[in-house]
Amino acid sequence: MESIEQFLKQRQAQHTLRVLSPLTSRRPGKAIQAGREYVDFSSNDYLGLSSHHELIDAARAALESFGVGASASRLMSGDLEAHHELEEETAAFKGKEDALLFNSGYQANVGIIPAMAGRQDAVFADRLSHASLMDGILLSRAKCFRFRHNDTEHLERLLEQHRKNFESALIVTESVFSMDGDRAPLRRLVELKNRYGCTFFVDEAHATGVFGSQGRGCVNEDDLTEDVELVMGTFSKALGGFGAYLAASHDVVHYLTNAARSFVYSTALPAAVVAADLAAIRLCSKGLDRGSILLQKAERFRQALRSSGFLVLGSSQIVPVVIGDTEKTVCLSEGLLERGFRVLPVRPPTVPEAQSRLRFSLCYFHSDEELQAVVEALCELA
Ligand SMILES: *Cc1c(COP(=O)(O)O)cnc(C)c1O
Repeated sequence: MESIEQFLKQRQAQHTLRVLSPLTSRRPGKAIQAGREYVDFSSNDYLGLSSHHELIDAARAALESFGVGASASRLMSGDLEAHHELEEETAAFKGKEDALLFNSGYQANVGIIPAMAGRQDAVFADRLSHASLMDGILLSRAKCFRFRHNDTEHLERLLEQHRKNFESALIVTESVFSMDGDRAPLRRLVELKNRYGCTFFVDEAHATGVFGSQGRGCVNEDDLTEDVELVMGTFSKALGGFGAYLAASHDVVHYLTNAARSFVYSTALPAAVVAADLAAIRLCSKGLDRGSILLQKAERFRQALRSSGFLVLGSSQIVPVVIGDTEKTVCLSEGLLERGFRVLPVRPPTVPEAQSRLRFSLCYFHSDEELQAVVEALCELA
């Protein structure tokens, strides 16, 4: 291993050394830091639900009744009726038989994948899959084949060549990609998983709450609920809460209750968190419908950036503007910050070399004036 000193020096030279940057507080679409308010394009609280009064009231009531911590893992003595209520309503929301809660999306992915694939098996994963998916695959010890991003022909070649050498196989993708903001070709992927006898895992971290009828996600929107065995998502992004879920069959959920180590060996989600998550699911189910409005906003923003000559990716509330050079990307991000806009630079190793970008996370509460102002600021700086 390189020394810590070398690591820090090298990252510094490459403009990829990260530092923490604490906020004083945050509310939908706004971040407050060192006495200054910024228009915030760096939050995954896409619908502004984290400060919705129904989530706060539900959390407060649960906090008063149950206290702060959950005291034990679910299988020991931390299991509450509230966990089951949230699982039932999440399953119904996603149109699956059952659901299982995890303490975060990261923990879901590093728990589910090793339970579903082992040494004798193969995992075929989109090359841009989130770090938590890649870590889950590493932990599983399965043979991993990464296919080019959203390239189903490449996946088909890999399946053709390798599927027969393994007992079982898992195909892994996100439905909305966190760094490119684009959508996976789920229908084509389902065809391939059927043809080659694979199980299909879809991570809906960025789709839940935004895409599909009432925010039920892309799998639901594409009418593939029956075809995707494992539909994972988080409560921590558009739903404004914390924690994650897997929606699947009764049997899979019962199996994972026993076999997913991040579920078995970690303290349960606190009641207040569970209550807020449930309030968010209920708000969406009742037809809150902020997702479709947010997506329209994002499309107008994309158009405005494109007409100003920027290279813009994606087709979701995540709007990446590819700058290329890492130093320039960091510079632009700093320039925008000076003008009152928080926009995160995304750089290697999170994205490939020479593809550094500014990643705009849009929020339902961003006004048209704010969106126009940031495009103008970017034009002046670039
Ligand atoms: C954010 C994210 C996760 C992790 O979810 P957390 O609840 O934040 O741990 C997993 N997968 C994807 C695709 C994500 O974007």
